[in-house]
Amino acid sequence: MLDARRIREDFPVLRREVNGRPLVYLDNAATSQKPRCVIDALVEYYEGYNSNVHRGVHALSVEATARYEEARAKVTAFIGAPSHEQLIFVRNTTEAINLVARTWAPANVHEGDEILLTEMEHHSNLVPWQKVAQDTGAHLTFIPLAEDHTLDLSRLETVLTSRTRLVALTHVSNVLGTINPVKEIARAAHQLGATVLVDAAQSVPHMPVDVQDLDCDFLAFSGHKMCAPTGIGVLYVKRPVLDEMGPFLHGGEMVKEVWYDHATWNDLPLRFEAGTPNIADSIALGAAVDYLQGLGMENVRQHEVQLTGYTLNALKELEDVTLFGPKDLNVRGGVVSFYAHGVHPHDLGTALDKLGIAIRAGHHCAMPLMRKLNVPATARASFYIYNTEEEVDLLVDGLKQSLRFFSHVTRRA
Ligand code: PMP
Repeated sequence: MLDARRIREDFPVLRREVNGRPLVYLDNAATSQKPRCVIDALVEYYEGYNSNVHRGVHALSVEATARYEEARAKVTAFIGAPSHEQLIFVRNTTEAINLVARTWAPANVHEGDEILLTEMEHHSNLVPWQKVAQDTGAHLTFIPLAEDHTLDLSRLETVLTSRTRLVALTHVSNVLGTINPVKEIARAAHQLGATVLVDAAQSVPHMPVDVQDLDCDFLAFSGHKMCAPTGIGVLYVKRPVLDEMGPFLHGGEMVKEVWYDHATWNDLPLRFEAGTPNIADSIALGAAVDYLQGLGMENVRQHEVQLTGYTLNALKELEDVTLFGPKDLNVRGGVVSFYAHGVHPHDLGTALDKLGIAIRAGHHCAMPLMRKLNVPATARASFYIYNTEEEVDLLVDGLKQSLRFFSHVTRRA
């Protein structure tokens, strides 16, 4: 098990107060906090060996290149990818998915084809496919949500057809916390010749993920949700899918030889990393991977299971509060969304902020899912390695206090 209290000491920001109270940070699905070792990795780079990569012969450039590629190797191992050549550094999950939509899709998705998504996708794994559908004449289809907020797999045979070219789905829902059976869906998709993209923005930071075990063709995630800085993300691509993909952005670094009228492409994965990459943040992502591996991803997962169970138990006692997501903790990540009837989630978020408690309130970039759940927005608490049961107690007390206040205001109005 994790010792969250000890882990907290590694995170400088957790020492601060907000509105005169110790910060209770429960917005980890939006972005995680950063440990000292990650911040140090950034400072060491800028103070010690700041230089461009893959193009210099001087000492600093050689050192920066080695550390940049070392970070790639760490991330490759972290997700069980067979080779560093299959690991492309991008800005974030959104860019990773757009890379696939702009490079793989035009060559593989045609008029009348289908792209199968789920009803719980983040806009980042919906809007790029709407654009592909508009451009190609393909159709979007959806695996529906079941009553218990898992995917209704009894409908899989109907929605997954011989016309399905791509199945693009989230591993863990950022609203419901649902952990989707990606491996099972990938197997069914491959049997019909479809390609599979996994949005792992909410899974890679929180549980062991092995791309070869999942057998997905694409896997996308963001560093900033897993202790690393903003501005660095990852796209993994299986072979031979990768070998058949043309470049994304064109320019320096992604070329081998250039003439005035044409160019040839660099080796993998640099072919997909045009221009100067995000060197410092990639190296810091490597430090974040070291840190998480030191804790053990199975321990990270168990810690969140425990906190989620504890929170659901406490919240189900509250009157007029609807909880979303599966009750079964085996298929649920550390995300708890809820709706307090009669109180807009934004008001609740503001009231909790006055108590130093940071939760997220809004549509969580999943507007179609909000409509499906029949709410304008939800409040969401989401956990990570440094959260404790005491913090959940503060959340629950704060909620009770806020709900009392709002019911009083409503009665008087
Ligand atoms: N997919 C999911 C499931 C997410 O939770 C998020 C971030 N909220 C994204 C995609 C997009 O991540 P980013 O903003 O880092 O591109």
